[in-house]
Amino acid sequence: MHDVIIIGAGPAGLSTAFWCDELGLDTLVLEQAEQVGGQLHRVYNPIENYLGLKARNGQELLANFTKDLDAAEFDLWTQVDVESADLKARRISLRSGEELQTIAIVIATGVTARELGVPGEKEFIGKGMIESGTRDRQLFAGKDVCVVGGGDAAVENALLLAEVCPTVTVVHRGKKLRARREFAERLQPNNRITVFTESVLTRILGNEEIEAVEIQRKGGLKPFQLAVGGVLIRIGVKPRTELFREQIETDEKGYIAVNHQQETSASMVFAVGDVSNPVAPTISGATGAGATAAKVIASRLTAR
Ligand SMILES: Cc1cc2nc3c(=O)[nH]c(=O)nc-3n(C[C@H](O)[C@H](O)[C@H](O)COP(=O)(O)OP(=O)(O)OC[C@H]3O[C@@H](n4cnc5c(N)ncnc54)[C@H](O)[C@@H]3O)c2cc1C
Repeated sequence: MHDVIIIGAGPAGLSTAFWCDELGLDTLVLEQAEQVGGQLHRVYNPIENYLGLKARNGQELLANFTKDLDAAEFDLWTQVDVESADLKARRISLRSGEELQTIAIVIATGVTARELGVPGEKEFIGKGMIESGTRDRQLFAGKDVCVVGGGDAAVENALLLAEVCPTVTVVHRGKKLRARREFAERLQPNNRITVFTESVLTRILGNEEIEAVEIQRKGGLKPFQLAVGGVLIRIGVKPRTELFREQIETDEKGYIAVNHQQETSASMVFAVGDVSNPVAPTISGATGAGATAAKVIASRLTAR
């Protein structure tokens, strides 16, 4: 029996564990990936908005986090496959057959990139799918590429790729791009970038590697093909809450509802970080929420 079990070891889960340890709580962290850090592994740009600490990328910030965690005494299990979580009973079953019982559960499972769900998307991973404009730019230099999405992340990546790619075609479902003005304004004078609004990418085609995409424009009779050597998809994220649905309150997109103390609708079940923050997901928000949850849990346990 642990005092606290934290599911997820991104910035939110790690911060919760750090604070729980400092407050003397017997804590176990369950992480499904091989390494802790969550989305920090996908941040290739400099992080300049975490107060007091600048980092060249997510890995560097994570190295700073883990340095501080070296002396902590919480248990961390990585590559753990949680099969189910009974939030009312506060019991967690692992695919390995183990059953874990705890006084408090903290859900820190974050978000994952939304998929288009079109043929070719999975098949061409590592064969033309671009993960990041920052990281993969040189690999795709000289190739025509397609970017799907109309928000900040899509447009920022299109601009980065246009520095080295002869053409960048942005395909966006909506009538207007959603990207902030500063990005959208930089698109117009860029003659390497073409934007197709009210359009959807319907297939990714190729043999060994991506060779073309198929695009359906609104009002177009049938899809047309465009030759490209790379595709980057940035159509938003979704919360990782499949394990907990129907047991706690969420919004319509699946984000967990919490109060100011990070409490969910289930007793002694807390949620921290992006999984409960659809509006302003940030590293500082995630680490702050972890501190709040830990302090509230500690005060509840001493009051028992
Ligand atoms: C490209 C990019 C750039 C960014 N730049 C910035 C920036 O400059 N500044 C900023 O503040 N923020 C930035 N962010 C956002 C920031 O990374 C997130 O807000 C932050 O990582 C959220 O932390 P989290 O712990 O809530 O979730 P995550 O980082 O998503 O971590 C969740 C963890 O939970 C684990 N998990 C999920 N499901 C399970 C399960 N069932 N069992 C066990 N473990 C599970 C995951 O494997 C993961 O390790 C950026 C994000 C991206 C992708």
